[in-house]
Amino acid sequence: MADSLDITSSLRFDSAETRNAFRRRIRRWFRTNARDLPWRHTNDPYAIWVSEIMLQQTQVATVIPYWERFLKSFPNVKKLAAADESKVLKLWEGLGYYRRARQLHRAAQVVVQEHGGRFPTKYQEVLALPGIGRYTAGAILSISSDQAYPVLEGNTIRVYSRLDGYTEDVTSGPGQKHLWEFAEQLVTRSHPGELNQALMELGSEICTPRDPDCTNCPVRMHCRAFSDGNPEFYPVNKRAIQYEARRETAVVIEHNDRVLMREYSGRERWAGLWDFPRFETPGAADKDSESGAIEATVQEATGLQVAIGAPFWKTKHAVTKYRIELTCYRSRSSLSNKQLNQIRAPYQWTHLSDLAELPLNVTGRMIAERL
Ligand code: SF4
Repeated sequence: MADSLDITSSLRFDSAETRNAFRRRIRRWFRTNARDLPWRHTNDPYAIWVSEIMLQQTQVATVIPYWERFLKSFPNVKKLAAADESKVLKLWEGLGYYRRARQLHRAAQVVVQEHGGRFPTKYQEVLALPGIGRYTAGAILSISSDQAYPVLEGNTIRVYSRLDGYTEDVTSGPGQKHLWEFAEQLVTRSHPGELNQALMELGSEICTPRDPDCTNCPVRMHCRAFSDGNPEFYPVNKRAIQYEARRETAVVIEHNDRVLMREYSGRERWAGLWDFPRFETPGAADKDSESGAIEATVQEATGLQVAIGAPFWKTKHAVTKYRIELTCYRSRSSLSNKQLNQIRAPYQWTHLSDLAELPLNVTGRMIAERL
C-alpha cells in the first residue's frame, strides 16, 4: 500500500480503513526498527511482568542488566516468592522506587498461594495482583499470549494525544477515559502484543517529548499534531509535578571498623533499605551555626555526640516530588564504650565489610563506595 493517503480521511480513527492502514504502517516499521531487548525473546509472562515493573520510571538501558540478574537469581515465580525480601531489594538496589520490588515479591507469593505458582492468564486475576494496574495487566497478557488488551502509559499517552490532537488534560478522569477508548479502538485480535510494543516503541524512539522525529515517523500521515504543525503542544498535562527543592544531610559516623547505619521501615521513603544517618538539613543563620545544628540533630536522632568537619561529598538527586541537594559529612570522633551503647533505635553499628551485602538506597551505596 502506498504511504500517501488522503490527509482528511487518514486522520479519522473512527474509520476502519484508517485504523487498518495505521496498524499496517506501524507494524511494518516495528518489524524492521524494534530494538533488540532481552525480554522481547520470551513469551514467559513472569519474565515480561518483571520487565514491565522495572521499566516503570526507569530507562531501558538501566533496566537490562537488572532484569538479567533478577531472572538469573529468580528464574520463576516460585523462586521469587520463596526469597527473602532483603535479597529481592538487594537485586533492586539502584533502580529506585523500591515499592515496585516489594509489590512484585508480594504478588509472586499470591501467584504461588492462589494460582499454584503459574502466572494467571485471565485479565481480572492478573489485575488483582499487588502492583499491577490496567496498563501492566494489558501489557503482560497482550505480549505473552496475544490477548487483545490495550495499553496506556507515558509513551502511548503522548503518541495517542498527538495522533488525535487531544487538547484536554490527559491526567483528568475524562482525559484518561478518552485515551483508553482511543487505545481500545486500535487494538485487535491479530497480534495485539506486537501492536502495543510498536506503539510504545514509537513513543520512546520517534515521538519523543521534545523534538519528535516526525520526518521519519511511519504514521505521520495519521497524525493530527503533525498536520497542525504543533506536536510539542501535546500532551496537555495540567497536573505536571511541581518540584520542591530540599537540602538534606548524611553523616557517616565511624568507630574502628564499624559504621552507624539504619534500616528504613513501615511507610518510610526507602522501607526495607539501609542508609547512613540522614535528615533534612536544619535551618541555620550561617555555616558555623549550621554545623552546630547538624551535630545537635545527629545527637537527637542517634544519641551520639559527634563533631563534624567539612563536607566530603555533595550530590543532587530526585525523589518523588523533591529535588534534593545532599551534603555528606564524616565523623571520626573517638567514642567511649558508654557512648557506643547510647545509640537509639533504629540505628545500629554495622561492620564496614558488611555494607556490600546490605541493600542500600542509591545515595547510601554511593557514600559507601567513597569510604
Ligand atoms: Fe509523533 Fe510526529 Fe509521529 Fe505525530 S508525526 S506521531 S507527533 S512523531
